[in-house]
Amino acid sequence: MLIERREFLSTLTVAGAATLFSGNTLLASTNPKKDKLGIALVGLGYYSQDLLAPALQQTQNCYLAGIVTGTPEKAEKWKAKYNIPDKNVYNYQNFDQIANNPDIDVVYVVLPPSMHREFVVRAAKAGKHVFCEKPMAPSVADCEAMIKSCSSNKVKLAIGYRCQHDPNIHALRQVIKDQKFGKVKMINSAAGYFDARTTHWKQSKKLGGGAMGDMGVYALQGARLATGEEPISVIAQASTTRPEIYKEVEETMMFMLDFPSGARAACQTSFGINMNYLQVNYEKGWLKLEPQSAYNGIKGSMSDGTIINNPIKSQQAKQMDEDCLAIMNKTDLIAPGEEGLRDIRVLEAVYKSVASGKSVKI
Ligand code: NAD
Repeated sequence: MLIERREFLSTLTVAGAATLFSGNTLLASTNPKKDKLGIALVGLGYYSQDLLAPALQQTQNCYLAGIVTGTPEKAEKWKAKYNIPDKNVYNYQNFDQIANNPDIDVVYVVLPPSMHREFVVRAAKAGKHVFCEKPMAPSVADCEAMIKSCSSNKVKLAIGYRCQHDPNIHALRQVIKDQKFGKVKMINSAAGYFDARTTHWKQSKKLGGGAMGDMGVYALQGARLATGEEPISVIAQASTTRPEIYKEVEETMMFMLDFPSGARAACQTSFGINMNYLQVNYEKGWLKLEPQSAYNGIKGSMSDGTIINNPIKSQQAKQMDEDCLAIMNKTDLIAPGEEGLRDIRVLEAVYKSVASGKSVKI
């Protein structure tokens, strides 16, 4: 009879367990009887506090087991609110000791993008599966290092593309799969909001800010999912209406993508404009989503009268549940590290095009 992992652990000495788990392969690869994985959130800012922690109260396959924060006051508040034991609370310095904590199966990195690589690699080395927020990282080199580290430590790496778990986005893939309206010809894809902050990491180059990585990936995902193809070239222009705030990174990015089939996409993203829509024009019809990336309200219609409006309680809960199930069943993730890398490849080309003023091959 299989023994429960928790019971098994309780039979080990602390030192024995530390040795066992610091090698990481056991923790990452054997967990047959756990029916809920323990998640530790790294970085307790807006997204963790307002979206992920509440979603983790609704999940079936995982729960909020731990936190990693640089702010002791936040740790106290979270411990009380979510009943998190002291032993599951880490700071950025002692984070690597998480390797010895069997309560934590997955580390979810929710930090500014330039910090993603460091914490994904440290989590992988600790033998933990990793979820990483979008944009995956500022560069292709970072993404490749993150993928390599997770693969060599035998842990899974999922990117927080919550929309890919939303049934309303699945409609896009289905239309192209079924060739419902023929080939995709032209796409308009936009995602932006007005950010009133002036000194946030989103305005800092060093921390991985800029509209392109933040909201631009939604516009890009819309175009990539609608075609089911990878773009082969891009021409882009950056602009700002608030140069006093956007000194290091772009406030607005417009980028035009060419796909191998001949489909073209005009994409926009901004920290100064409220917009969120996807219009896909096929040979014989169209599909519209507006909004295309809202948390709980993706909806739209098609030229044949089909309404796209499947209810979803929490994208984040569904995303974490589906990713945890993939870990437990050792099946493929919906949005693995390789998917995050595909977007960052385009992002790098977008910036090259802005710098050169020319079209850039991808
Ligand atoms: P935030 O600024 O609200 O939180 C960032 C956290 O990182 C804070 O707890 C902060 O204390 C911590 N931090 C540690 N070192 C820092 C440093 N040097 N500078 C700034 N902060 C530092 O940001 P957020 O909106 O929660 O975004 C975090 C991540 O989540 C980003 O990758 C972002 O793109 C992503 N995000 C995703 C979604 C989504 O829908 N998938 C939505 C919002 C944010």
